[in-house]
Amino acid sequence: MACRSKSELNEFVKEARTYAKYGKVADYIPALGKANANDLSIAIRYPDGECISAGDVEKKMTLQSISKVITLALVLMDRGPEEVFKYVGMEPTGDPFNSIAKLEETTPAKPLNPMINAGALVVTHLIKGGSADNRFERLLPFVQTLANNPAISVNEEIARSEFETSNLNRALCYFLKHHRVINEDIEELMDLYTRQCAIEVSSLELARIGLVFALDGVDPESGKQIIPEDIARLCKTFMVTCGMYNASGEFAIKIGIPAKSGVSGGIMGSVPEKFGIGIFGPALDDKGNSIAGIKLLEMLSERYHLSMFS
Ligand code: GLN
Repeated sequence: MACRSKSELNEFVKEARTYAKYGKVADYIPALGKANANDLSIAIRYPDGECISAGDVEKKMTLQSISKVITLALVLMDRGPEEVFKYVGMEPTGDPFNSIAKLEETTPAKPLNPMINAGALVVTHLIKGGSADNRFERLLPFVQTLANNPAISVNEEIARSEFETSNLNRALCYFLKHHRVINEDIEELMDLYTRQCAIEVSSLELARIGLVFALDGVDPESGKQIIPEDIARLCKTFMVTCGMYNASGEFAIKIGIPAKSGVSGGIMGSVPEKFGIGIFGPALDDKGNSIAGIKLLEMLSERYHLSMFS
């Protein structure tokens, strides 16, 4: 069973929105600080084409960390798991997404997983295509295909704002360059990474991307396999184990849906074989996840028994 009632979804949003006041909009990327903490929207997209939504679902958000799942899929398609997992591991960290702490604990240096910044920077480094521009020209059409919208583009203001202030990510990159995990110009990599994070989507588009992962890589309209099944499954597994940063364990227990969040307040959910979810709620909890968005997923999961473990 699944939620097909717009009025019920409206009620859920109304209740979940009351939690936004306990969160805070991210402002370490200055341009993200302009978001409205009270915003909350959700779209649920089904394989049969139906889409139920509530809130201002046309409003755009930047992908931020949600882009990590998408670049991982692209890089796994480019290079295959054997090569990719030489450079990045498969284990959750229990640390904040931008932590540098565990990088020193492995020899040779290897970020623990592709969903933390250190691992994602390696994955972005591994996108095939040479220059940052060429790699981005492969990544953007891939996102457009997943979202089924060729007009998807970058929020340049947010990309620039992150590029100018990304000292911690630069530190991670230089550490990895010192250990020869990354071997390109760091400014070039930061340019690509910050553009990747600033790709803009609506909740409707995010739900469409979530649906492709839910369907093991199959495009719901054309029936085409746009991500190989084994790679889509692998990405979903990372969503379960590491998708909500160091809150992934609690999220799996309470909600049980493969999901990936971003500091813009987006959450992409992929209920296996059933539907894709796109949420936008920029007020974040102390781990950096949308506080009202998590509440909304909790209510939906409980009401419709969506946990993959139930
Ligand atoms: N662009 C952000 C960063 O690297 C993405 C982090 C996130 O969404 N958690 O800091």
